[in-house]
Amino acid sequence: MKCMNFRRFDPAYKNSGKVGLQRGNKLEEEVWRTFADKPELLREVASAISEHVLNDDSNLAPVDDDEETVEADEGRLLTRVHRHRERSKKIVDKKKDAILKKTGRLACEACDFDFQVAYGARGSGFIEAHHTKPVHTLRPGDKTKLEDLALLCANCHRMVHVRQPWLSVEALRAILKAASEFDAKNTPEAA
Ligand SMILES: [Zn+2]
Ligand SMILES: [Zn+2]
Repeated sequence: MKCMNFRRFDPAYKNSGKVGLQRGNKLEEEVWRTFADKPELLREVASAISEHVLNDDSNLAPVDDDEETVEADEGRLLTRVHRHRERSKKIVDKKKDAILKKTGRLACEACDFDFQVAYGARGSGFIEAHHTKPVHTLRPGDKTKLEDLALLCANCHRMVHVRQPWLSVEALRAILKAASEFDAKNTPEAA
């Protein structure tokens, strides 16, 4: 029956003169629009969701749902998994230690903002971690590796998650670069 609900959006089915089940919920259209031409991705998303459900990831519950973050295309559950992974203190602290050792600072990987430079002692040690793996590849029991995390300032992290689809760090960097080039071109030279 669910398949027949989806068929009301399927042009191939309509072209054959049939209509599918007309009553359904709004989400079906959204799911159809997102995944109709990506069956492989759909399969991965569906199996990731069912694995997490079967695994009963009840430890996901405590992460508060952030109102400014839109859900990933892959839905609420995998959004939570993402959130949970990037807020897991132990691995995030490890990441920060590693970067601090390597570069001597904790700067945003997209815009280079450094909380300590901007806020002094109060900002020291502060930066957010973003989990970079696509959420449909997250499986229960996977260990987050240091290279799965990117360090982002609070603004950049927001911008990654503020709309669908979520952005990669590279894509965000490209947006920042384009915006600053636009700015440079449109700001009159100081006399
Ligand atoms: Zn930033
Ligand atoms: Zn994130």
